[in-house]
Amino acid sequence: MKLDKATVDKIKKDFPILKNVVYLDNAATTQKPKAVIKRITDYYEKENANIHRGVYKLSQNATKAYEDAHKTVANFINATQEEIIFTSGTTESLNLLAYSLQKNISKGDEILLTELEHHSNLVPWQQLAKRTGAILKFIPIKKDFTLDYKEAEKLITEKTKILSVVHVSNATGTVNDVEKLCSLAKKQDAITIIDGAQSAPHMKIDVKKLDCDFFAFSGHKLLGPTGIGVLFGKKELLEKMEPFNFGGDMIRSVTPEKATWNDLPWKFEAGTPNIVGGIALATAIEYLNKIGLDNIEAYEQELRAYALEKMKGLNLTLFIPKEGAGIISFNLNKVHAHDVASILDDDTVCIRGGHHCVMPLMTKLGIAGTSRASFYFYNTTEDIDTFVAGLHKAEDIFNGK
Ligand code: PMP
Repeated sequence: MKLDKATVDKIKKDFPILKNVVYLDNAATTQKPKAVIKRITDYYEKENANIHRGVYKLSQNATKAYEDAHKTVANFINATQEEIIFTSGTTESLNLLAYSLQKNISKGDEILLTELEHHSNLVPWQQLAKRTGAILKFIPIKKDFTLDYKEAEKLITEKTKILSVVHVSNATGTVNDVEKLCSLAKKQDAITIIDGAQSAPHMKIDVKKLDCDFFAFSGHKLLGPTGIGVLFGKKELLEKMEPFNFGGDMIRSVTPEKATWNDLPWKFEAGTPNIVGGIALATAIEYLNKIGLDNIEAYEQELRAYALEKMKGLNLTLFIPKEGAGIISFNLNKVHAHDVASILDDDTVCIRGGHHCVMPLMTKLGIAGTSRASFYFYNTTEDIDTFVAGLHKAEDIFNGK
């Protein structure tokens, strides 16, 4: 579906909340189309039952819908159903790995991240390093906000046991060449992990092409509900790994002394899962598939270019690479990021101001935070006009005009 003005205007009507706000905080979370909201209501009104337990039809149908949702997610990123574990989000997916991969890590082993990591892909590894004596290393960024791949080549050595990298930075919109990094890491037999929280919603993901071992993302950043997320893992690795949570549903048999584990992916989904979350996530993905991820990516590039052109008249500093995703981080000179966000809020424009959960990056850049506008396919050039008008207003207020 080509995203021209008429199409986007029509799409916007699918999102009830967009009647009330200009929403430009899509890197934080996305709004929900009526189809997803209806799927949640329908489920609770007509289909609610626990899964994998009941012999009655209601439970069997809920089980089928939940299992089918794994298939929808698998097709979305070119994986198989067994390789898709539903978690509560990217954060839980990465924590699961930091626990379950612990047995592969010894004192002195290296875990390689980048300077762009969200706290979710940093703090769990700090904790793993604390538990095991492993050492964290970071691929640096250059002045242009892109990764230094020459340094990456030097940092990936036989000591590297895990490479865990963000695909698209939520703070700068930098799109990392994760395929290249994974291939370098594989030559050293390292485990490769991609934090896809900001990529899966905006570009076509093919985990076979990326050839990563694990890929994590969140449902709520791609039109789905909060509290549901995904961990893709290569089957042969998931089979060898120990579960992270223990309890009901993840077992095959239990004696008073011990237990054996269920098949994939259920081995990693202990207890009653977020059933409706998984089912509604599939509805969200079906909605995205109808539009097409390639069209979404291309349209967001148009919005980025339009916004940057419009922002030219402002006195600001940008914290973005020349080419990047639909995320614009900036500081209006003389105006604090929180003040910018509150002045825009007066005109019902939602943007984010702060450290964006990347405090080490902000420290490196020598700033406390930035203002950040982040786009999705339902945003329009009118949204950007309103946003830029708000920025002019903020400048005027702080310049005493
Ligand atoms: N990684 C990145 C790059 C993110 O942008 C976010 C969310 N801001 C996360 C991880 C964490 O996602 P969640 O809060 O949905 O677990």
